[in-house]
Amino acid sequence: MPRHKNSGNNNQRRDFFHKEELKQKGLSEKLVRLRGMKDVIFEENKYWDLVIKKASDLAEVYGFKKIQTPILEPLELYRKSTGESSDIVSKEMYAFVDKNGEKIALRPEITPSLVRAYIENGMLNMPHPVKMYSVGPIFRHEKPQAGRYRQSHQFDMEIFGEASPVADFLLMLIAYNIFSELQIDIELQVNNIGCKQCRGEYIKKLTGYYKERGNRARLCNDCKRRLDKNPLRLLDCKEANCISLKEGAPPIVDFLCEDCKKKFTRVLEYLDEMNIPYNLNLNLVRGLDYYTGTVFEITAKEDPEKNQGGQLSLGGGGRYDTLVEFFGGRPTPTCGLALGIERTVAKIKTSGVPLEKDDKNIIFLAQLGDAARRKAMLLFEELRKSGLKVKQAFTRDSLKDQLEEANALGAKLTLILGQKEMNDKTILIRDMESGNQEVIDYKKVKTEVEKRINAV
Ligand code: AMP
Repeated sequence: MPRHKNSGNNNQRRDFFHKEELKQKGLSEKLVRLRGMKDVIFEENKYWDLVIKKASDLAEVYGFKKIQTPILEPLELYRKSTGESSDIVSKEMYAFVDKNGEKIALRPEITPSLVRAYIENGMLNMPHPVKMYSVGPIFRHEKPQAGRYRQSHQFDMEIFGEASPVADFLLMLIAYNIFSELQIDIELQVNNIGCKQCRGEYIKKLTGYYKERGNRARLCNDCKRRLDKNPLRLLDCKEANCISLKEGAPPIVDFLCEDCKKKFTRVLEYLDEMNIPYNLNLNLVRGLDYYTGTVFEITAKEDPEKNQGGQLSLGGGGRYDTLVEFFGGRPTPTCGLALGIERTVAKIKTSGVPLEKDDKNIIFLAQLGDAARRKAMLLFEELRKSGLKVKQAFTRDSLKDQLEEANALGAKLTLILGQKEMNDKTILIRDMESGNQEVIDYKKVKTEVEKRINAV
């Protein structure tokens, strides 16, 4: 498919230029970051903090509690949940044998860890539903491209022990709120892939369709393999031939049992009532093995990549009612979602979402001479502990350099402590906007600074 070909060429080209660049800088290829990995440097973290804070605050508002689980887990956890037939487990896992001979993996998604933690920590005995959220890295050995990393980060939410479709809707509502409050216009695709009861009949029909003469031969090699292992995944394939074959496949909605139909209708009614726009996408199945019932995916609207058929999702989720039981717990209806942090950050950076600035009422503390520096360091701690937004450049000797830094930081006031002020037990206070300076009694410095800040 052209998209794959191009992205392959682009990657090779990028790699070539990257290697050239390293050579020019005299850097060894072995001492630079791995392919598909990313450094998040200084200012960019403000966007990360914004996304994570927005998502966490909203999760808390809706009653979710934070949980942290290890990044390394037994390999078996993913084989049993994410599934052997998923690309994630069959092709993309960072799995290895550790020093004790145990087969372990860097988590390729967060949900299985949360299911494990729910069972292992006896949460079955807590009042239900148990709602939790977690944020952190995941690892998938994918082909790196724009928006696709080998280490990426997800914001994950799960609701354990709630069969009502309100729970499915709640997840979509929260995701919608997170993105719209970050000023990202999204498209929400929704489907229902049936439960254990209704799916069996559908799978038979679907397999029959793909095995019809002529159809099977047109499938990509991966789909030929999936046809026996997990035929639902054929609906999710991105290869051109498989996409066109999918058009004629029987839609699952025609096979849903009464209960699934009722729940699906309810989810859509809630979305309508809350004015959350969505598209029914009867081919949406998602890439993991454990989903049952509702599935949904979120993409950004008007993505320039869309026309190239390469639109990347910002998040997705759904119901997985059988997984807790499959792991040895009590039957527990569960649903969850995962949002990608990198892609969300990239989106808000390009759409110019303003960051809240924390540059009001900055007080810069400048010093001249070693004795003044020592006294300034004590004063700095005192002012900082009293809650003032104080900044410094104690490693610098020149007053000019320090004033330049104060200016660059947008300081409102600069306090200057030099030899003369040390002798007179005073300190100089300079209003950075007007340039006016005043000498004040050293003992009164904190009161005077607070007076001026509060007067703003
Ligand atoms: P998934 O667990 O595949 O449903 O992914 C949920 C979300 O995580 C996606 O919608 C993306 O935003 C993000 N994501 C998944 N894989 C990657 C990746 N390799 N690089 C960047 N973001 C990713």
